[in-house]
Amino acid sequence: MAQEDVFKKVVAHCKEYGFVFPSSDIYDGLGAVYDYGQMGVELKNNIKNYWWQSMVLLHDNIVGIDSAIFMHPTIWKASGHVDAFNDPLIDNRDSKKRYRADVLIEEQIAKYEDKMEKEVAKAAKRFGESFNRELFMQTNPKVLAEKAKRDALQERFAKALNEMNLDELRQIIIDEEIVCPISGTRNWTEVRQFNLMFSTEMGSTADGAMKVYLRPETAQGIFVNYLNVQKTGRMRIPFGIAQIGKAFRNEIVARQFIFRMREFEQMEMQFFVRPGSELEWFNKWKETRLAWHKALGFGDEAYRFHDHEKLAHYANAATDIEFRMPFGFKEVEGIHSRTNFDLSQHEKFSGKNIKYFDPETNESYVPYVIETSIGVDRMFLSVMCASYCEEKLENGESRVVLRLPAALAPVKLAVLPLVKKDGLPEKAREIMNQLKFSFNCYYEEKDSIGKRYRRMDAIGTPYCVTIDHQTLEDGMVTLRERDTMEQRRVAISDLEGIIRDNVTITSVLKKLS
Ligand code: ATP
Repeated sequence: MAQEDVFKKVVAHCKEYGFVFPSSDIYDGLGAVYDYGQMGVELKNNIKNYWWQSMVLLHDNIVGIDSAIFMHPTIWKASGHVDAFNDPLIDNRDSKKRYRADVLIEEQIAKYEDKMEKEVAKAAKRFGESFNRELFMQTNPKVLAEKAKRDALQERFAKALNEMNLDELRQIIIDEEIVCPISGTRNWTEVRQFNLMFSTEMGSTADGAMKVYLRPETAQGIFVNYLNVQKTGRMRIPFGIAQIGKAFRNEIVARQFIFRMREFEQMEMQFFVRPGSELEWFNKWKETRLAWHKALGFGDEAYRFHDHEKLAHYANAATDIEFRMPFGFKEVEGIHSRTNFDLSQHEKFSGKNIKYFDPETNESYVPYVIETSIGVDRMFLSVMCASYCEEKLENGESRVVLRLPAALAPVKLAVLPLVKKDGLPEKAREIMNQLKFSFNCYYEEKDSIGKRYRRMDAIGTPYCVTIDHQTLEDGMVTLRERDTMEQRRVAISDLEGIIRDNVTITSVLKKLS
C-alpha cells in the first residue's frame, strides 16, 4: 500500500473507531483542533502513563508537577516568546494562501532527498541482492548531483534562518522556483514574522484587564517552580521536574491531522545540572529517550536522530528524535541543552535570586538545563501509523488489525459470550467482574463471533475470550490472540495470570531498567 494511502486510512480509521474526531464536528470542525474519542483517550492516557512512570517511577531524582496554563505575562517576555516566538510567513498573491517560508524550503530539501531515494530504489531493484547502498550513494552521478543541490540549499537555508534574514528566505523560494501548491504560481509576497502565541484578557476591563497568553510550552511552568520544588522536595542537583499538559500555538501550516495542532499536549522534563556537565547529560538523555521509544517494539529502523544545525537562541546542543511516519521521518521529540538561559532570564525579570546552593562544591550557581520535550499527540499519531495493518488471511479474507503494543492498547481483553442465551452472558459478566479490577475489559454479545473478533482487531485489543456451552461444564474458555489469531483453551482461573503481565505499562518499563 502506498504510504500516502496508509496515512489517509489511519485518519479515517481514527474517526470510524472512536480514536480521534475533528473538534466541533457537527459545526464542520475547527481548524487544526481535534477531540479524542472513547478509544483515543484510553490510548492517550496509556502513552502518558508510560512516559510519566518512566520518568517519575524509574528515577528517584525526578518528580512531577502540574502548573497552571495561565502564567504571569512577564514570563513570556523573559523566555523570549513575546519577541522571538515567530514563524516567517509568505503569501501567494494568486491563491491568497499563507505558508511558512521555512516549511516551503524544508519541503524542497525533502524533494531532493526523495529523488535520491528513488534512484537508490531503482538500482536496488536492478542489482538485487548484490546491491551495495552505501557505495551507490557515494558514486552514482545522479545521486551525487541531487545531494550537491540539497547540501547547498541546506547550508543557505541554515544561514538565513540563523540570521533571521527574511529577504534571503524569500530569495531562496524564488531561486528554487518553489510554486504555490494551490495556484501553481510563483507570485509571492514579502516574508513577514508572525507570533504564534494566543492571547486573551484576564480580569474585567473596568479594573484594567491584563493581557495573558495561553502557554505555548509547558517548560516555563517548570522553570518558575524549580526553586519551590528544589527546596520543598529537598532535591539535589542533578534532578529533574516532569510535567504533562496542554500547550497552544497559533500554527499557520496546520495540516497533517494531529501532527500539527493549535491545541496540543506536551510531556516535558527539565533536568537541572551543574554548569559544565550539560553536554554529558545531554548525551545521556538522548540515549535514555531513544530507548524509551524503542522499547515499544516498532523496530529500531523507525527512529533516527536529527541534530540541529540551527540552534535556538537559548541552546548549546539540540537534537530531534524523528519517527518514520507515512509522510517521511518527522520530529516527535526534541532534546535540548538549554544552558542557564531560562533561569537566568527569570532571575533578571523577576528580580529574585534563584540560584542553587551546591553543598558538594559550596558554590551558588544558576543550574544548566537539559530538556526532553515530546508531543503526546505526535506520539499518538506515530503509534497509530506504525500499528495500522491490512492483512490478507489464508482463507482469502482480509482484516484490519491495529498491532498496538499491548501495554498501550485501549482495551486489553474482550469478553464474548458465543450466544446471547443459555446462561453464557451471565458467565461472561462473571468473568468481567473478576477481571475488570486488573485491566480494561470490554463486553460484547452482538453479532457473530467472527465479526466481534474483527472489531476487536480494529481497535487493537490484544486478547479475546469466548465463553461457550462447554465453559459452563468445565470452566474453560477460548483465548484468542490478536496478532497470531491463535486460539487455545484455558481455565478461567488462569486468565488473569496469563494476560496481566503482558498488558501492563510495567511490562514495558521493565525493558528500560
Ligand atoms: P515543529 O518544528 O514541528 O514546529 P518544534 O520544534 O517547534 O516543532 P518544540 O517546541 O520542540 O517543537 O516542541 C516539542 C514537541 O512538542 C515537538 O517535538 C512535538 O512533538 C510537539 N509539538 C510542537 N508543536 C506541536 C503542534 N503544533 N502540534 C502537536 N505537537 C506539537
